[in-house]
Amino acid sequence: MHTQVCVIGGGISGLSVAAGLALDAQAGEQAAVVLLEGGDRPGGVTWSEVKEGRVLDHGPSSWLSGEPALDRLLELAGLQDQLLSPSPASKARFIWARGERHRVPMAPPSLLSTRLIPWGTRLRLFGEPFVGRGDPEADESVADFMARRLGEGVVDRLVSPMVAGIYGADPRKLSVRAAFPKLWQLEHDHRSLLIGAMKSRSPGPRPQLQALRGGAGTLSRGLAGILGDRVKTGRRVQAVEPMGEGWAVHTDEGRITADAVVLATPAHAQAATLRGLDAQAARALDEIPYAPIAVVTMAWPAEAFSAPVEGFGVLVAGDSRDEAPVLGTIFVSSTFPDHAPPGEVLLRTMVGGQPDPSGAALDEQALLARVHAAHAKFCGAPQGEPRLVHVVRHPQAIPQYSQGHLRRVAVARQAQVRHPGLFLAGSHLDGPGVRDCARTSATVAAQVRRWLATGETDSGVPV
Ligand SMILES: Cc1cc2nc3c(=O)[nH]c(=O)nc-3n(C[C@H](O)[C@H](O)[C@H](O)COP(=O)(O)OP(=O)(O)OC[C@H]3O[C@@H](n4cnc5c(N)ncnc54)[C@H](O)[C@@H]3O)c2cc1C
Repeated sequence: MHTQVCVIGGGISGLSVAAGLALDAQAGEQAAVVLLEGGDRPGGVTWSEVKEGRVLDHGPSSWLSGEPALDRLLELAGLQDQLLSPSPASKARFIWARGERHRVPMAPPSLLSTRLIPWGTRLRLFGEPFVGRGDPEADESVADFMARRLGEGVVDRLVSPMVAGIYGADPRKLSVRAAFPKLWQLEHDHRSLLIGAMKSRSPGPRPQLQALRGGAGTLSRGLAGILGDRVKTGRRVQAVEPMGEGWAVHTDEGRITADAVVLATPAHAQAATLRGLDAQAARALDEIPYAPIAVVTMAWPAEAFSAPVEGFGVLVAGDSRDEAPVLGTIFVSSTFPDHAPPGEVLLRTMVGGQPDPSGAALDEQALLARVHAAHAKFCGAPQGEPRLVHVVRHPQAIPQYSQGHLRRVAVARQAQVRHPGLFLAGSHLDGPGVRDCARTSATVAAQVRRWLATGETDSGVPV
């Protein structure tokens, strides 16, 4: 079989590249595309199910609005009218620290009064504009960067829970420049984060959290649906090799030839596919670590709790994980009431991540006991039994943008220059969020179009 473009990997990255090439008439001439997915369903970790009126997001659940590439995908999939905004109750966000649930301070007055961070650190915050720039050549960790700018006291109490919530990561291992490029840029451009944030505030509407009525998986299902039989599941790719003017893609089920190949699999899978072709790129991709996460969803009758469970959810401070050894719990039914039947409390708890990889591998009984104990701390001990318990494990959940990440990505991307017609996409390149994957994929789709039309490649250029 021959096609113009063979996309490998059917997560949100691969589906976005394929949809951008095959369906987006606005972007230019449509290309003939085949997408090969190794698993038995498209979507990768962007996967959700509906059980008796409860929406169970097993991977991503929400994202910030305002990314045009993601808006375009939602439009292509016909899902704009399925977007949900969070309830007003979810404005309250909490952090569990040393035996107490604290409301996250979202504005300067509450920053001054909160007992979440030590008073010395609270005063220190006002000195931030006077702290000089760091070494622009240093690959500083998120923890060192934030401690230098805002004081050591913010690391465990504010930074660590935030980083665990976004990346399942440890801020002491994450590169600030790779994981939070906007923050790094603020210091670079304005010296101070506070001054930079004020100066660079755009006049338009601020990005808002959004989710899909049927769960995030409706986006992957929607894209796969309109791609139709271009999507082939159960086709694990072993290797790719240049052949004539194009490429041969080797799968368990035989060979496909294509003018261009897009690898949209996780870094470790890209490494395996490229091992025989480009050892240097394969080594760099192999060095990108992934953190394991177990996602535990529990549905409780509302009366199981003595007080209403309201707010966005609870993250756990870095110095309090011995008390509540989970990354955090989202109060799904409070944040997106459409995701749970009335009268029910739906809680989604993440366990593991980089701070506690063995937590994600606990046997089911120990995992559920841990989650139950965390719920008791966060919401008050529930009475009776949950109506639903569901566990999904992601052994390699989220790529960790650790120190050295930007170099690894640059080395991997050189493969695109050495092997014209080969393109890389995925959550390990320019941000792990759904909106980041959509943006990277839109850029890759444009690069592939250019390659097909002119034979020119600018694919070494990051997005
Ligand atoms: C638990 C969890 C919660 C998250 N929460 C959020 C959130 O709330 N908001 C947000 O924005 N982001 C969130 N993320 C991050 C985001 O969902 C992911 O980074 C993103 O979905 C990754 O998409 P992807 O297509 O790059 O990779 P994947 O979804 O991993 O897809 C890769 C696909 O490639 C396939 N594959 C692998 N090897 C081969 C092969 N050899 N041949 C063929 N196919 C292959 C796999 O089967 C898979 O389907 C979360 C992630 C996880 C795991």
